[in-house]
Amino acid sequence: MTASLERLSESLARIAPSRTTAMTDRAIALRAAGHDIISLSVGEPDFPTPDHVKAAAKAALDADDTRYTAVAGTEALRNAAALHFQRDLGLTVPPAQVIVSAGGKQAIFHALVATLDPGDEVLIPAPWWVSYPEIVRFAGGTVVPLATVAAGGYRIAPEQLAQAITPKTRWLLLNSPGNPTGAVYSADDLAALGAVLRCHPQVLVLSDDIYAPLRYVPGCHATLAVVCPDLGPRVLTISGVSKSHAMTGFRIGVAAGPAWLIAAMARLQSHSSGNACSISQAAAVAAFTGPQDFLTDWCQRFRVRRDRVVAGINTIPGLSTPVPDGAFYCMIDATPHIARFGDDEGLALHLLDHGVAVVAASAFGGRDGFRISFATDTDRMDRAISRIAKALS
Ligand code: PLP
Repeated sequence: MTASLERLSESLARIAPSRTTAMTDRAIALRAAGHDIISLSVGEPDFPTPDHVKAAAKAALDADDTRYTAVAGTEALRNAAALHFQRDLGLTVPPAQVIVSAGGKQAIFHALVATLDPGDEVLIPAPWWVSYPEIVRFAGGTVVPLATVAAGGYRIAPEQLAQAITPKTRWLLLNSPGNPTGAVYSADDLAALGAVLRCHPQVLVLSDDIYAPLRYVPGCHATLAVVCPDLGPRVLTISGVSKSHAMTGFRIGVAAGPAWLIAAMARLQSHSSGNACSISQAAAVAAFTGPQDFLTDWCQRFRVRRDRVVAGINTIPGLSTPVPDGAFYCMIDATPHIARFGDDEGLALHLLDHGVAVVAASAFGGRDGFRISFATDTDRMDRAISRIAKALS
């Protein structure tokens, strides 16, 4: 009786809870129980939300901006997002082809649920952001991993893409700068992938550019819809304010794409959450239209931390990591240590016992290692690296 009462839908039964969130929750619980835990598992900047953004949120509240808005977002925010796509990504898009959702995650969720049927294949470069495969599976699609390696900059090659595409391929998911590897695709990389995609007009591309402002390589950010404008009608570009403006709690993400897809996402959103929070939307307008110069300082600070963390990790015997070109994560190979702990999850738990929370590579479709986030101050980072070295000595 109870078993059937508690029966989950087939869609939900296909997915697992987020392992990054699970590790963060575990670290919080251990800390609450008095343990000294340094968490390198969390995927958000440790900087405070900029003052002008907070002021806009307060002003919206004071102005009683507390009602439903249009499902796809306020006119002001869709205009501001279009400005952001143009200024920061080089992508010209009319505001009518922009949707505002409760985080980039919700925009991705709605896009995939709105377009996938059982049997549809989705190509995902691995290691991947944890939610991509789970959303695909929830939507009934089939995950097709495209393995990448550190030596190849964790980027897929055009030949690899060509081999993986079948008549059932519905989506390719691209993420640059990437979580969890920090991989960044250049305009040349994207042009080569675009040449393959041109031969397969049934394939949609989700370009997740949410970390675009956080790059440590010279030159402009490259995104597929700009590098290959002829593919634009089948590219959905995801962005937001969560990572770039330290606004993860506000829950605002934006997507730009073909009108039919934006309309489909809005149709689903009208029955899931409706509009994103009105106060958060007002704050996001300020984020997109206000000063952006703080980003230079943030990128510089992230770069210093990145260099320090990469140098520290690479001095620990049996650990190695390439230099990530963007975002704030390092994917660390720990192959020589894995046998001692059974698998990378065992290694992550061992590190937790030594006071450092990390996420096992297998959570991201990778193997034999773990991911750390360097969105934490250098003092804590240095202590975490010493603890990792001691735990593995
Ligand atoms: N895409 C990637 C690659 C991410 O790492 C994240 C968050 O961790 C998101 C999308 C979603 O961001 P949010 O829903 O917080 O805007």
